Amino acid sequence: MEPWNKRFLQSVFLPGGAILLGAYLLLGPGKINPSVYGVRFFYFAVFIAALVLAWRFHTTRIFLSAVVLLLAHHALEFFTQGHITPSGPGRIAFETIALLLPLNFILLAFFPERGYQGRSLFWFLALLFFESVLLAAVARPDQPAPELLHASPLASMHWRLPQPALLFFVIALIYLLVRMVRFQKPTIIGMFWSLIAIWLGLNAGGIGKLGSEYFGVAALILASSIVENSYSLAYRDELTGLSSRRAFNDALLRLKPPYAVAAVDIDHFKNINDTYGHDVGDQVLRMVASKLARVGGGGDPFRVGGEEFRLNIESSTFRVRSGDERRKIERPSDRRFQRKKREAPRLSANSSTTLSVTVSIGIGESQSKLSSDEIINQADKALYRAKRSGRNRVETGIPEKKMLGFGSKKPRQP
Ligand code: GH3
Ligand code: MG
Ligand code: MG
Repeated sequence: MEPWNKRFLQSVFLPGGAILLGAYLLLGPGKINPSVYGVRFFYFAVFIAALVLAWRFHTTRIFLSAVVLLLAHHALEFFTQGHITPSGPGRIAFETIALLLPLNFILLAFFPERGYQGRSLFWFLALLFFESVLLAAVARPDQPAPELLHASPLASMHWRLPQPALLFFVIALIYLLVRMVRFQKPTIIGMFWSLIAIWLGLNAGGIGKLGSEYFGVAALILASSIVENSYSLAYRDELTGLSSRRAFNDALLRLKPPYAVAAVDIDHFKNINDTYGHDVGDQVLRMVASKLARVGGGGDPFRVGGEEFRLNIESSTFRVRSGDERRKIERPSDRRFQRKKREAPRLSANSSTTLSVTVSIGIGESQSKLSSDEIINQADKALYRAKRSGRNRVETGIPEKKMLGFGSKKPRQP
């Protein structure tokens, strides 16, 4: 899939990046100046929201990220007592925390998306405990600051953060960025922006009103990533990244004529699955989806599901099954059922077999007095005709010259 399309950029920037940008523009010196109580309220509200949402949605990764932020910020306030001096326990605590925060975020990015994985959870909590003890041990009044914390090989640069911490921030952000591009998970995207918010917060000292504001913003970004995550679970198809059936139904409600609906179906897709295995089948789906996503002309692609489309034309009646019977039946649109190993020859990663697939397309166009359901039905019927008359072609329910939308008369050959 092409990573740098508009939708990808949007999913990377919204909502985390937008929240951070807004915060950055609002929170600078001489900008809005909320009262201490306002900041307190905001701070606790967003942390509670982040923790409760993470708990309710079983997002261990975000839950622990919020816990890390809370602990770090409170430790910072405790050891600095309100101001960071050039040396002493407050300084050491600041430098240690600035080093540990990005490190913890790297570890948390390894956490499974959902569910409480007992063992990794235990080890992470043990690590947090160890870090707290370490911090208490190094940040003592009679203790000289460890050289390691503020080593500055790049002497000429004047960064607010000590260079070792800066290095860890850069490594963590690059790491999160790579995971972001590869997997496009809202929670990882949230952690990325959240870490930048913490960076800005620490640059501003990490304590006082501005510190609370930036740590609060970091928590707000984490909380919003949970909301974004459940949105994308509901509205996006995981395999192809296209919008889902639910999004399609929503889009239909907003459509105003004139418009056209094109039903696209891969030809003999079952053969591809049977011959090369489902993993290759999945790749083919992704490839076709990415081609469709690039079709211009203002059309939007959706993955509405494989079978349902043609089944409801082929069979106008159906029998209601008993619960037991239903459970036995493999549901083609449900990927959990397809993960089962099949005894089909598989393509190895460096196999040089070239695979060519074709699609059939049926088009329905908006006409006066036709409901969107009827137009979809028209598209379904046209698709069925395309299949019946040899596949790899476009059929339309309307005369040729009136065709609209992203269907073309030429057979599409992805
Ligand atoms: P036709 O040319 O008539 O369309 O034949 P076909 O074999 O493509 O038949 P149909 O479109 O009805 O079959 C769709 C198949 O797609 C059935 C199902 O196993 C498969 N399928 C549906 N979703 C997925 C998926 O997410 N991954 C893979 N690998 N296969 C899927
Ligand atoms: Mg098909
Ligand atoms: Mg199909």
